[in-house]
Amino acid sequence: MASGKINVSVDNIFPLIKKFLYSDHEIFLRELISNATDATLKLKHLTSIGEAKLDYGNPIIEVKVDKKGKKLHIIDQGIGMTTEEVKKYINEIAFSGAEEFLHKYEDGAKETGIIGHFGLGFYSAFMVSKKVEIITKSYQDAPAVHWTCDGSPKFTIKAHTKTERGTEIILHIADDSTEFLEDHRISELLRKYNKFMPIPIKFGTKTETLPKPEGAKKEDPAPTREVDNFINNPNPAWTKQPTDLKDEDYKSFYRELYPMQFEEPLFHIHLNVDYPFNLTGILYFPKLTKDLNIQKDRIQLYQNQVFVTDNVEGIVPEFLTMLRGVIDSPDIPLNVSRSYLQADGAVKKISSYITRKVADKLQSLFKSNREDFEKKWNDIKIVIEYGMLSEDKFFEKADKFALYPTVDGKYYTFEELEEKIKGSQTDKDGKLVVLYASDKEAQHSYIEAAKAKGYEVLLMDSPIVGHLIQKLEQSKDKLSFARVDADPIDKLIQKEETQISKLSDEEKEKLKTFLEKTIGNEGYTVQLEAMDSAASPFIVTEPEFMRRMKEMQQTGGGGMFGMGNMPEMYNLIVNTNHELVGEILNTKTEKKRERLINQSIDLARLSKGLLKGKELTEFIKRSYEMVK
Ligand code: ADP
Repeated sequence: MASGKINVSVDNIFPLIKKFLYSDHEIFLRELISNATDATLKLKHLTSIGEAKLDYGNPIIEVKVDKKGKKLHIIDQGIGMTTEEVKKYINEIAFSGAEEFLHKYEDGAKETGIIGHFGLGFYSAFMVSKKVEIITKSYQDAPAVHWTCDGSPKFTIKAHTKTERGTEIILHIADDSTEFLEDHRISELLRKYNKFMPIPIKFGTKTETLPKPEGAKKEDPAPTREVDNFINNPNPAWTKQPTDLKDEDYKSFYRELYPMQFEEPLFHIHLNVDYPFNLTGILYFPKLTKDLNIQKDRIQLYQNQVFVTDNVEGIVPEFLTMLRGVIDSPDIPLNVSRSYLQADGAVKKISSYITRKVADKLQSLFKSNREDFEKKWNDIKIVIEYGMLSEDKFFEKADKFALYPTVDGKYYTFEELEEKIKGSQTDKDGKLVVLYASDKEAQHSYIEAAKAKGYEVLLMDSPIVGHLIQKLEQSKDKLSFARVDADPIDKLIQKEETQISKLSDEEKEKLKTFLEKTIGNEGYTVQLEAMDSAASPFIVTEPEFMRRMKEMQQTGGGGMFGMGNMPEMYNLIVNTNHELVGEILNTKTEKKRERLINQSIDLARLSKGLLKGKELTEFIKRSYEMVK
């Protein structure tokens, strides 16, 4: 037997490791299983190149809980280690790595947002153990080795009788870590971190029901048997070639990833690149609700099939974090803070690769099956619109397939819309005027008025529509958006024949005075317009600019700081060519005139949804009086 002192300058690094990583103790299991996997894959490699002359077979990794003995065993059938290798890899490399890590971590700990303590390695076992044993037998012809260490830098090494190839790690679980002696806890960890690892992982057994033998009675219970319980799927879909997978395979992998999701994904995007960085994965577009905050089943990040995190912020562009699925890349540095990560060149490339792939997929869906794309639009538009706002590269691509539905359920691309309204919807400066509604019910009368004139009205009801409109106006020449209730349509859109007012200037002056006297100082600006006699006599509008400012303020648009509360500002548009307006002008008694004006204005406000509370009650009362 030999014993020695591990060469570290800190006397006892384990309490330190424990202290620094207090919140992440559970990762020890992931680290040890990663080592076991590496050892097995190394053996596979050596046999495949003829270096190791043995039968590789079907090696597994086994995890065993010994609750009574307060021990946890991790057993592999990999390459194992000789005495020399234990001395070198465990005593020197692993422990110098530990020290290095601690120094790094001490510096980094002040910075928030360290992703995961990846690469912590073998010594993470000491976060949960008071003593660790390694029993290992190399694939080479050498006696087995038994290494023991109690957490101080002292260790012992002696021969062991183990005859099968591979390594067994025995953790003597510390008193403050007994949770790791519970089957359910270990099984939870294995499912979290190792669900897709490439070597089968066995944990306990499970009961399997067998078919009843022929001639069995109905009441006879079906026979059962105990079989090994394997935790993982060693060949998850993302590690396969897209050509080897059918649509159903992608769907069933989605269910495997998110067993609690009952809704099917809309479509998937298979990521597969090996230069200039290595990345595989599958992203899914889920059905999205308007509520952007629901972030339950998120994209999962793996490294060589080992789960790392489901916080992919900084790696996946923000607008795509609403998607689901898996990304696996060994090229993402993980022992760094988020801010460092975002500045990393490789990570930037990964992020723009993902953006490009998503845009290409959407483009091809749009091209290959427009009808289906239109059907899905409502479920995917939030991601696309958000992407158009936040990434210029994505905007360029999405501009070709982003859809603009009309209130009647037609779908246009921007180019198609432009083509359609080019001749008929322009303002006096020759700008294209795109009319839109944000709420089909609330703006019904305005929509109808616009449609009666043959105009196209878009339905734009996303929560970020104000920002999107601004972006479109900025990036396209001669374009302005106006909500249907922003101004009288005739004012917005230049018409060939301008309406001539039936009223003289003198009459107009008189009418204006009447109106202003009756409505008083209520925040309405009276505007007389000569409109079609079939149009409404009174229309309340809210200038596009004012409304947008208000909306931006609510959605926290940038640059709106210090605007305070925007005042309510409405226009009262009076159609001087309408019969009722003529009647008001010619009414003899002041009382009757006031009644007509009040009733008319209230109807206009009702139509805009502005009549509420006491005013609404009074309006209804007054209306009953009138119909009596
Ligand atoms: P890393 O895995 O990052 O190299 P570790 O500290 O986890 O660092 O392990 C150090 C070394 O110990 C490994 O590189 C490997 O050579 C050896 N090792 C650890 N676990 C095993 C194992 N189960 N079987 C064979 N060798 C192992």
